[in-house]
Amino acid sequence: MAHAKTIDVPIEGMDCVECTQHVAAAIESLQGVEGVEVFLAAKKARVVLDPAQADLAAVRQAVASAGYSVPMQESQPTAPPPLVDFSRRIMVLFGAVFAAVLVIIVVGEWLGLLKAVTDRIPWYIALAIVLVGGFPVFRKVWLAILQRRITTHALMTVGVIAAVTIGEWATAAIVVFFMRVGDYVEGFTTDRSRMALRDLENMAPDQARVQRNGKEFELPISEIEVGEMVIVRPGEKIPVDGIVIDGHAMVDQSTVTGESMPIDVGAGARVFAATLAHQGSLRVEVTHVGAQSTFGRVIKLVEEAEANRASVESIADRFSSYFLPLVTIIAVLTYLISRDPMATVAVLVVACSCSFALATPIALLASIGASAKRGLLIKGGRFLEALARADVLLIDKTGTLTLGRPHITDIVAFGEESIEQILALAASAERYSEHPLAEAVRHAAAQRGLELHEPMEFRPLPGRGVQAQINGSIISVGNQSMHGGRPDDQRVSELAAEGKTLLYVMRESTLIGLLAATDTMREEVPAAISKIRDLGVEDIELLTGDSERSAIPLADALGLPFRAGLLPEDKISIVREHQSRGRTVVMIGDGVNDAPALAQADVGISMGAAGVDVAIEASHVALMREDWMLVPELLHISRRTMSVVKMNLALAAIYNLAGLLLAAFGLLPPVVAAAAQSIPDLGILTNSSRLLRQR
Ligand code: ADP
Ligand code: MG
Repeated sequence: MAHAKTIDVPIEGMDCVECTQHVAAAIESLQGVEGVEVFLAAKKARVVLDPAQADLAAVRQAVASAGYSVPMQESQPTAPPPLVDFSRRIMVLFGAVFAAVLVIIVVGEWLGLLKAVTDRIPWYIALAIVLVGGFPVFRKVWLAILQRRITTHALMTVGVIAAVTIGEWATAAIVVFFMRVGDYVEGFTTDRSRMALRDLENMAPDQARVQRNGKEFELPISEIEVGEMVIVRPGEKIPVDGIVIDGHAMVDQSTVTGESMPIDVGAGARVFAATLAHQGSLRVEVTHVGAQSTFGRVIKLVEEAEANRASVESIADRFSSYFLPLVTIIAVLTYLISRDPMATVAVLVVACSCSFALATPIALLASIGASAKRGLLIKGGRFLEALARADVLLIDKTGTLTLGRPHITDIVAFGEESIEQILALAASAERYSEHPLAEAVRHAAAQRGLELHEPMEFRPLPGRGVQAQINGSIISVGNQSMHGGRPDDQRVSELAAEGKTLLYVMRESTLIGLLAATDTMREEVPAAISKIRDLGVEDIELLTGDSERSAIPLADALGLPFRAGLLPEDKISIVREHQSRGRTVVMIGDGVNDAPALAQADVGISMGAAGVDVAIEASHVALMREDWMLVPELLHISRRTMSVVKMNLALAAIYNLAGLLLAAFGLLPPVVAAAAQSIPDLGILTNSSRLLRQR
């Protein structure tokens, strides 16, 4: 128990939602396994195990016993797909035509338009179809029974056996055939939902041109190391995250940020893997490669989004687990009441719990995958669900509502120090702070060519400022809360009245000076806020650690209520306060110093997360570019997704209800029931595909 280890295990042969539950159950039953998460889209399982009791070999065996497999090499590189897989295509085409003809015959017979065609199938051919075609299904059913699990296929198998027993050979064969077609369709459906993810994966280049000892080599990404130089030619994709050392290019960053307008990139600029360089070459120093790059992180988080399950998914799953026993009871009752074996077989064959299981994940995968391509990284269905019913929006001011690039406008000296000395002391104290205000102070000092001191015992005071020892005395820079009140000074009052952010500079406990900073509001904010309101999120509030005075101009311009002078923990309690009233809280921040509040919110959104690791990690939804318009878009997507989910569930419910009723009353021959099996799956697929095309 002491050192639990997490391993990722690729799984082969896992095509349906029910399959993921099998694999999970098989692994979970192992001694020493503490947790399992199975990812349908990424075709893998994440296993938390105690290495003293279980290992990969044990997991492999458990997976095999459930009828699936773990490929031998742990992480095979994704092989390029064969250009045209002819034989497979022809098989599929042949199967589809055959299935279509069979559907026509079966339905024709049912409606009395055709006279007994299927009856003419000789019993020995039917038997061959049942045995050969049914074998893989029967095997999985058997393996599941050994695990004490009843599956949809188990019920169908009972139906097939019953049909054979009463000598309905043609029925048995046709049911088996459509069972296989149904599996194929479900596999196809889950594959389609994986497409958005695969498209995303394919956007990252897997080769880079690296410079070593003055020579250029074309190497796979996995061999590139941080600190190396990579050359990017015009029209090529940038293979890594890095800093441009020299060269110039127009870069289309849409793969990462969703923004297709190319930006001008030159020496010193940050560039991201998977973005496209036009018109010009670049030499880039590698800062992050592969999975560590911003794009790599996005892919990984999208792959793992399935772990943050929507509650409707759990409800649908729970329902599926009651569904099969329910169908069994209906089948028994049908037989007891009507004594009609064919009606009973039809009941067993028509019920398909898979459509319930499929309804939610397919839609969520499509939506999350498509959003990732547009610069919206959503870490799970749970968050889409919460966004769709959001009623409170809390906005962090600095860096979120404002550009987060404040600059120092005024400096006031109170003691004998000169303005330069005050700025130098402040910038030295701020040397290692990540706050945007610290950046502004350092920038102002650099502009005046001031020399900085090395701070000792640097201490950040979140939501208040910083403190450090410089040349033997403690210098603190921060807001009013550190000083304990505003000094009675004409200049200070004026600056505060202008809505500026005041930074008090203190040596020990004496106020020696003051810096005033301003930051501009992002221009698209008013339009975005009004759209958010139109979408029904009425309760919008501004939160800031800054002073009341500096919040007023922004709050007034937007017509929003605000709370100022907040410490990070105050922001958390405001989130909790709303939640305790049963409301769904969305909070937007920069993810840097408001991470705890973002985590507490039902949905924490970070703004401008491309390249900012903490912002990607800290939030539930990361907006990859700094664009407020993404917020209403996100709300819109969440609503569309949830309405598609509801439609999918309704479709599954209507199909199953109607099918069961018709079958139980003997109005639906088993062959027609079997032929109809893929209707809900195809309906769900079609409906969910709408989410791939957004806007
Ligand atoms: P917001 O809630 O608006 O995002 P923060 O919580 O990041 O703001 O900071 C609140 C206030 O604390 C700032 O307005 C500033 O006055 C002060 N502060 C925080 N960090 C620093 C710093 N590094 N240097 C100076 N002042 C700081
Ligand atoms: Mg902030």
